[in-house]
Amino acid sequence: MVKTDTFLQDSLEDLGEKGCLRKLRCLSGSQGREIIIDDQKVLNFCSNNYLGLADDVRLKEAAIVSLEAEGLGSGASRLVCGNLSAHKNLEERIARFKGTDAALVFSTGYMANVGIISSLFGRNDVIFSDKLNHASIIDGILLSQAKFKRYPHVDMKALEGMLQETREKIRKVIITDSVFSMDGDIAPLDKIVALAKKYNCQVMIDEAHALGVLGRIGRGAAEHFGVEEEIDIKMGTLSKAVGSFGAYCCGSRELIDYLINKARSFIYTTGMPPSVAAASLKGIEIIESEPERREKLWDNARYLLRKLKETGFETLRSQTPIIPVLVKESENAVRFSERLFEAGIFISAIRPPTVPAQTARLRLTVMATHTREDVHYLLQHMERIGKELCII
Ligand code: PMP
Repeated sequence: MVKTDTFLQDSLEDLGEKGCLRKLRCLSGSQGREIIIDDQKVLNFCSNNYLGLADDVRLKEAAIVSLEAEGLGSGASRLVCGNLSAHKNLEERIARFKGTDAALVFSTGYMANVGIISSLFGRNDVIFSDKLNHASIIDGILLSQAKFKRYPHVDMKALEGMLQETREKIRKVIITDSVFSMDGDIAPLDKIVALAKKYNCQVMIDEAHALGVLGRIGRGAAEHFGVEEEIDIKMGTLSKAVGSFGAYCCGSRELIDYLINKARSFIYTTGMPPSVAAASLKGIEIIESEPERREKLWDNARYLLRKLKETGFETLRSQTPIIPVLVKESENAVRFSERLFEAGIFISAIRPPTVPAQTARLRLTVMATHTREDVHYLLQHMERIGKELCII
């Protein structure tokens, strides 16, 4: 048979021409402030391992103890015979940490958002979603078939206008990232909660980049704003500040029982490996007991943001350890990233469709484990390359 379909080749060429072709970089060694890529040791300034827990010896030990006692795979979906004590322990610990009745663990954050949203909402409901919400929220909404109303990024006036236009009786929910993953700003949860009350609407938040980072205890942006009680559905991930893998939803016992029965990305998939659950539990304990990690993280984040601004970089509305440096053109963002790599710094270029057209950027993230020397080294090369590429 002669193959005449050039779809794949054409699509890849098209991406290449736009500077949007993505390639995987292979790392060896563990995820820390220094990583090894292509046999080269580089400083890592784009990881979500905010508190440096991904290679913490205590998480590794927890995983090893579990591996020896419970083995590697959990063998089946949780509702068949894959529900292990490691899952129960983790869920109880998350619920206790977050101060909710119950919690449910999902294998990834992507699966949590898709499963939670598509099981709770349907074609008769309306979902209000911030324009910069994570792709997994968008996919969950599309799968739910609910009416999808996107409001301009953190624009509370526009959101209120949309709420006013929606019939009172209809089931409604506002869904938002609490920290926006590519922009590093924080959703105004106090205002969102007030609007939700006024218009009889539920609220769901994705605390992926806020857990362990925001709030006095590290419980996230809802703690930071003092509105934890007013959020109906709280989702977060275990793969970022917790240093492990997976995600959770927490809320009322009824909500969790409903998800166990209805969320397809929970029901039709194998349970998380017990060693991952055990390591996640340890990560949560450390978040709670070592606030000094969070303080160090914020010290680094504030310093880096201030210096980047002083140097003349456009950092959008960053308020957190996620600091976007706007480059605009995709090709330039890639060039910037390559030049940094030559200087021993790894920061990947973020391009459309992950971010809107003409807003390609370097997404810098700092960690608690970066030293001041690391940050100075980064700043020195950012300034040099930024000038060479006429970005500043
Ligand atoms: N929500 C947000 C806001 C995210 O940034 C991410 C991933 N980076 C996810 C959900 C998905 O989480 P996971 O990587 O565990 O699938």
